Amino acid sequence: MPSSVAVYARISLDRDNEQLGVARQQQDCLELAQRLGWTVAEVYIDNSISASKDILRPEYERMMEDLSSGKRDGLIVYDLDRLTRKPAELESFIALSEKAGFALANVAGDVDLNTANGRMLARFKGAIARQEAERIGERVSRAAKQRAEKGIPQKAKHRPFGYTVDYEIVPDEAEMIRNAYARVIAGESLTAITRDFQAKFSTVANGRWYRQTVKKILQRPANAGIRVYKGEEVGVGTWEAIVPRSTYDAAMEVFQGTSKPMPDLANKHLLSAIAKCGLCGFVMYGRRPNKSSKAKYVCMTTHGGCGKIARAQEPLDGYILRLVAEYLKRVAPTVVEVDDNQDKIVAQQQRIKELQQAYSDELLSMADFMPMVNIEREKLKKLQKDSAKAVATTAVTTKSDEFLNGNLSKQRSVIRRYISEIAVMPAGRGARKFDHNLIEVIWKEAR
Ligand SMILES: [Zn+2]
Repeated sequence: MPSSVAVYARISLDRDNEQLGVARQQQDCLELAQRLGWTVAEVYIDNSISASKDILRPEYERMMEDLSSGKRDGLIVYDLDRLTRKPAELESFIALSEKAGFALANVAGDVDLNTANGRMLARFKGAIARQEAERIGERVSRAAKQRAEKGIPQKAKHRPFGYTVDYEIVPDEAEMIRNAYARVIAGESLTAITRDFQAKFSTVANGRWYRQTVKKILQRPANAGIRVYKGEEVGVGTWEAIVPRSTYDAAMEVFQGTSKPMPDLANKHLLSAIAKCGLCGFVMYGRRPNKSSKAKYVCMTTHGGCGKIARAQEPLDGYILRLVAEYLKRVAPTVVEVDDNQDKIVAQQQRIKELQQAYSDELLSMADFMPMVNIEREKLKKLQKDSAKAVATTAVTTKSDEFLNGNLSKQRSVIRRYISEIAVMPAGRGARKFDHNLIEVIWKEAR
């Protein structure tokens, strides 16, 4: 009878529904030891997620050494799946068990490695498991490809920002995305765009926006109804696109640097991608002056617009600047001290890590851990939201003079802060003079 038995258990953290927590594995193994009359010397626990992925399993290695040196003369596992899912590893385990001659018991009890029959069965099981895994893999990828070609949306862990899980458009998020494309094409910096994302939304994973996350969202072909499979375009999506293909392509060209940001940058045109066409509702872009015409804003067919409206830039900019300056004189917002909460956020993230560690270390049951970690995550979310708000507020807090003397990028951000829409209505045929009555300005708050 073995007198120095090892118990091996493995945690799979990411599978909440598995219900085979390491605590239960361990308990079942210890009960089995008692029934068999074996003396357990040590419990070996690995935190690795899977036994088939190439993740280091230090405790497994240590246990194998102890078994091969004879320090341990028996082993109890829940079942062979917990031990290893790699056929090669199973082979070397069986070889070791034959050579070192230790006793083995598994709670599931279907394989007895102590007999030749049992060992054959174990090998057989390993081979079948691998074949099965490969076959499922092939089937899954074949089906995935077919779905892609039919334009059925891709499923992911999180819903895509701008869409629900079922690829229905989420209006305010989609509007944000549409707006971001327009701004990229107009040459606005990702930093400025990201700041607005931070102020209005968290990511679908409840995280904070960074320039790279915003860029990734915009690079998503699904936004233009393009279905890709393994990086290749394979079809047209069955879902509603957020932007036309031409807009998507234009923005990608800006990202790749193959085209200059379209007409001539937001730093030359105050209202590029802010002013909207009063007929079709698409944003207008600035266009540089040329021999026959002064600088103007145009509704562009190449970016989804109707192409029917244009307006001279200079008088329109002047009109909007005056309006906002007057508005600021009246409201004169106070400058807010920024507390971006960074220290508190870091401390909160640390707190969550500690909880997760406590859970991995078996100091907490799942029933205790889940509500606790949810509460802490809520707190973190709130801190991040407040932080984004504080940053956004400071970015636009300015007085009338500062606004008029500020650079274009600051002015654009202030305009966005106070005005929700600037619509350029059609002027009569041959109208030469700028008429501010044809500009509809909608303010965010009542003046
Ligand atoms: Zn239009």
